[in-house]
Amino acid sequence: MKNVPTLFIPGPVSVHPDLREAMSKQMIGHRTPEFSDLYWDVFRGVQQVLNTENRILLSTSTGTGLMEAAVRNTVKKRCLNLVCGAFSKRWHDITRGCGLPTDIFEVEWGHAIHPEQVETVLGQAEYDVVCVTHNETSTGVMNPLKEIARVIEDNSDALILVDAVSSMAGIDIPVDEWGVDVCLASVQKAWGLPPGFAVASVSPEAMEASNGQQNKGYYFDFEVFEKYYQRGQTPTTASVPHLYGLQRQLQRMNDEGLANRYQRHKSMAERTRSWALNHGFGLFSEDPYHSQTLTCIDNTPDIDIGQLTGKLLERGYRISNGYGALKGKTFRIAHMGDTQPDALEELLTTIDEILKELQ
Ligand code: PLP
Repeated sequence: MKNVPTLFIPGPVSVHPDLREAMSKQMIGHRTPEFSDLYWDVFRGVQQVLNTENRILLSTSTGTGLMEAAVRNTVKKRCLNLVCGAFSKRWHDITRGCGLPTDIFEVEWGHAIHPEQVETVLGQAEYDVVCVTHNETSTGVMNPLKEIARVIEDNSDALILVDAVSSMAGIDIPVDEWGVDVCLASVQKAWGLPPGFAVASVSPEAMEASNGQQNKGYYFDFEVFEKYYQRGQTPTTASVPHLYGLQRQLQRMNDEGLANRYQRHKSMAERTRSWALNHGFGLFSEDPYHSQTLTCIDNTPDIDIGQLTGKLLERGYRISNGYGALKGKTFRIAHMGDTQPDALEELLTTIDEILKELQ
């Protein structure tokens, strides 16, 4: 097989050899004591990462599955979706697709959702759920989640559902302190694992909302997860390799230290932003709401991004063009998971060489 490029795209990310090794261990049955040991290890580890006492869902699905789970289990009256890009728009598409009453509040792509805006919108209808995307991967915006959650709590009884798909495990999200009811993520981003698995914390209030909820299906029913939680199991046959991978990754995160891990992400983000600005590019995300796991670079000098990504690929690196309508106008460099600063430096040096060739 041809060499696979090193990934600097915002998921999936390149997977550390330790994790690939852990994931190739022999299978165990999902209704056995050895599975429960693995389950509790991962369950408690995710609780620690999120600083929460809440239940943890270990879901053999991607993050989008858990987004659907979150709204289907909780929305009874009306849902408010705060939209600032393609992935936050997905909350709205999902809610509507599930036939649930829903409103959208949208800001221009590249902008963050501001708490004052949320306060105003909350006054316009009675919402029992608000959906927020912490880190908008299409625009490189990291929304001020703590402040948004505070405003929701102060101005409503709504549950707060958070898509932390491209931030969890790369940025500190103290779930209980911030009052987040559902905090979900896929594992192929800052968790650094292969795609196909997702995790979420679920508050007692969100669990309560699920009781008696109509039309929530079976696969993602919080009550079914709760029933199996009591046995230290998942409701259906779990992706055991992902649980092995998560167990190993939690040990590795512990070895690095969570604070060090978050600082590494922050430093790589700062380095990428200063590299972009020093090369005459702009930042697509509104200042100061820049993501710490990926940088969305504004193509101010109007270079040929297709040529840049093509030449990078020839040298063993893959970065992302802009998302959707932003193709050609922006490009994205991810710096998350197990990516190390020296690898990022090598990428930036290679881009420097290519930019000279393109002049
Ligand atoms: N939300 C955000 C912020 C994302 O970045 C992505 C994927 O890039 C998703 C949701 C969807 O994740 P998945 O494809 O794992 O369902």
